[in-house]
Amino acid sequence: MAKTLGFIADRFIAAGYAPVVTGRDRLGDNLLRLELESPDFTTATTTPGDSFAIMFSRNDFRHYTPAVLDRGTGRLTVIVGLHGNGPGEDVVLGLSVGDELPMMKWANRRNFVFDDGPAPIVVIGDATVIGLAMAFRDRIGASGRGFRAILEVPAADVAATAELVPGADVQAVGDTPGAAILTHLAAASFTDGSVFYLAGHGQSIQQQRTVLREVHSVPRKAIRTQPFWATGKVGL
Ligand SMILES: Cc1cc2nc3c(=O)[nH]c(=O)nc-3n(C[C@H](O)[C@H](O)[C@H](O)COP(=O)(O)OP(=O)(O)OC[C@H]3O[C@@H](n4cnc5c(N)ncnc54)[C@H](O)[C@@H]3O)c2cc1C
Repeated sequence: MAKTLGFIADRFIAAGYAPVVTGRDRLGDNLLRLELESPDFTTATTTPGDSFAIMFSRNDFRHYTPAVLDRGTGRLTVIVGLHGNGPGEDVVLGLSVGDELPMMKWANRRNFVFDDGPAPIVVIGDATVIGLAMAFRDRIGASGRGFRAILEVPAADVAATAELVPGADVQAVGDTPGAAILTHLAAASFTDGSVFYLAGHGQSIQQQRTVLREVHSVPRKAIRTQPFWATGKVGL
């Protein structure tokens, strides 16, 4: 669902943020790091799993993830996985330093929310999930809680992804998107009691879930899912 009525969108935007682009860096071939600054960000808080919407027309929007919120500087970092075709991507690619980027306030979606307990966390996904993995890693920090990220990105972006999410298992995407992660998951072992956050490509999430359930006997309740995009659909 990526459409909303114009007057509702107006209200959300009026109550949202209007940061200015202060950084726009190409990392790897298909990754873009946006730095957005706003005085509002110095007092804002974010929880891993939050997302926000940017508008590209009065009633169409796309979602992105706060990767790092630095309240000291009022700077938000967002990582965009460029996929080559879409109005959301066009907006992002068209941004220059100094531009304003109105956005809705971020929020969690349904049950896809950071679990504050002691259980080790595993984040799994594609290039759209790098920011989410950064947010989880940042929150867990030096607490000693287990954290693992398993990411699949284009080969040209593996090194940049590994720098953004130190310690992540970064797989290069092969002929079939999602297949490299499935192979990796089937052979991996996980700490008992881990909580899994699967995000990114909707169809791949279903396959990952099946492997976790059938190969690793992960309980249903320990798997949280949030499709970020789906083959054959625009926006989500
Ligand atoms: C909660 C949430 C958080 C998100 N956070 C991020 C984030 O931090 N960074 C990020 O990069 N993306 C993120 N996304 C995903 C992003 O919103 C989608 O990729 C979105 O579809 C991009 O919009 P678009 O206008 O460029 O393409 P659309 O108009 O939506 O789609 C055009 C075509 O491209 C395909 N497509 C869309 N996305 C991809 C993709 N990633 N790879 C391959 N094909 C694709 C569609 O199936 C469609 O055929 C998030 C999505 C959600 C729901």
